[in-house]
Amino acid sequence: MEILNYLKEEEIIAYFSMEIALFKEIPTYSGGLGVLAGDTVRSAADLSLPFVAITLLHRKGYFRQELTPDGNQIEHPVVWDVERLLTPLPQKVRVTIEGREVVIGAWVYVWRSVTGGKVPVIFLDTDLPENVESDRAITHYLYGGDRRYRLKQEIVLGIGGVRMLKALELSVRKYHINEGHAALLALELLRDEVSCQKEEKACLREVRNLCVFTTHTPVEAGHDRFPYDLVREVLGEPLPIDLLKKLGGKDELNMTLLALNLSGYVNGVAKRHSEVSRNMFPGYVIHSITNGVHTFTWTSPAFRELYDRYIPGWAHEPELLARVDVIPDELLWEAHQREKKSLIELVYEKTGILMEKEVFTLGFARRMTAYKRPTFIFADRERLIRIAKRQPFQVIFAGKAHPQDWEGKRLIQEIFKQARELHPHLKIAFLEDYDLEIAKRMVSGVDLWLNTPQKPFEASGTSGMKAAHNGVLHFSVLDGWWIEGCLEGITGWSIGSPPDEKTDDEARREVEDFYGKLEYAILPTFYNHREHWIRLMKNAIGKLAPYFNSHRMMKRYLSEAYFHQPALFTMNNQHV
Ligand SMILES: *Cc1c(COP(=O)(O)O)cnc(C)c1O
Repeated sequence: MEILNYLKEEEIIAYFSMEIALFKEIPTYSGGLGVLAGDTVRSAADLSLPFVAITLLHRKGYFRQELTPDGNQIEHPVVWDVERLLTPLPQKVRVTIEGREVVIGAWVYVWRSVTGGKVPVIFLDTDLPENVESDRAITHYLYGGDRRYRLKQEIVLGIGGVRMLKALELSVRKYHINEGHAALLALELLRDEVSCQKEEKACLREVRNLCVFTTHTPVEAGHDRFPYDLVREVLGEPLPIDLLKKLGGKDELNMTLLALNLSGYVNGVAKRHSEVSRNMFPGYVIHSITNGVHTFTWTSPAFRELYDRYIPGWAHEPELLARVDVIPDELLWEAHQREKKSLIELVYEKTGILMEKEVFTLGFARRMTAYKRPTFIFADRERLIRIAKRQPFQVIFAGKAHPQDWEGKRLIQEIFKQARELHPHLKIAFLEDYDLEIAKRMVSGVDLWLNTPQKPFEASGTSGMKAAHNGVLHFSVLDGWWIEGCLEGITGWSIGSPPDEKTDDEARREVEDFYGKLEYAILPTFYNHREHWIRLMKNAIGKLAPYFNSHRMMKRYLSEAYFHQPALFTMNNQHV
């Protein structure tokens, strides 16, 4: 308990997220959402904010990925050392699930910054002897199980989380709902208000004053939702059902809608994503705070050394990276070569594939799922081979498919098949078990970072920002953050048309852009105009990293979401 004492005098920001990626040994994340939450915690600590993060323990993690020689994914539970890494808290709280009382305990990890700032991350745990077997499993698997399991997890996170903060005697200035999974926290706050017999309007105003909601989902189908029959069975009726339907949707409980209706400040994670969200939910005020990555974390050892020497203070003030031109070209190139060599060694160690240090290297790593289109580069294999014969290149892939994403798993197999068939024209390696560590090595060790999502499914994307911090150029579809980051041929290259341009056959344009730019712009610059290539690397560092970092992002949450005066904003209450 002393651990949290320093917060007793503060009004904290309570950040709720289903996944948080702190470091490799705490495997409670699956992808970009969790990594963003981790970077949020890191920046909040660096900036010494009164900040607490709440998540679930996920004692068996997401999963460890094993791949057979054919690219079949086998999933293993992750065993991690909760008792060694986390500190147990004595407080316990209770929630009702399926009419049973479920007891929730908590563990804490305190993230410490070199600035002296610290952020406690609280992991909720139902695996206690007081609970029946099935309830003990609620906090075992991130995104495991069916709808019912998911709803139970959301009850523990949202409702259990609010109760845990109360048990810890922390006073909360704002509750930050990071994606719809945590929306039930607002319902718990509303239940508290309603129980004081206040007028409905006044209750809603109170809750909205307390809640900030960040949505990450750009398409209707992606929103977390539950049939009301299931809700009634699992959650009961914490509020009159009419009120719940008014807030969460007529036919199903839609967590995004619930959070929209109960938050005084709402934002999307890139400018384009906020537009898309406003179209999806007409009439709601949806602001935009573009994501960023934690500068120090995502800068490789070789580049940290360079920046320390030439741009002191860069990690705490990433704006200073705009001064990248002070670094001599040869040193920048050497640093990049060092990272590339180290990645090539890792690939050899893990796959037995020996890549070449002089050969242009593309990287593609992220969750393996249909909209990310990981097999995009194989659209025209003849052309791929033709290009590689004259200007050689090699490709490194990595990524996990969700255990129930059959298409995602098929795409991994497809990459393996292509790799076999394209041998020896093109060397392709796939690194198993993508995680924070592999991500760090890949975004700094390749020459070009590729991103080919189906528009408009990429709400933001962050891996290209990590690449930019290491002078790795980005080649991507114009979606999410890249619409804001791309200066064609200056900070990187685009694939496909800009969002405001109508094209009849976008799919063809994308394929044409990919092969055309690779063959005529990217590879020739890399092989024949090395000085210009280094100029582009410096552009990426100097024009992207100063903005697309999580310090800038947190400062905007501070000034616009956490400390704004609600009266100055149009509240999201026009509908209810
Ligand atoms: C950064 C990161 C992501 C996000 O990748 P996108 O390509 O931006 O979706 C996913 N997984 C891990 C492990 C990451 O580090």
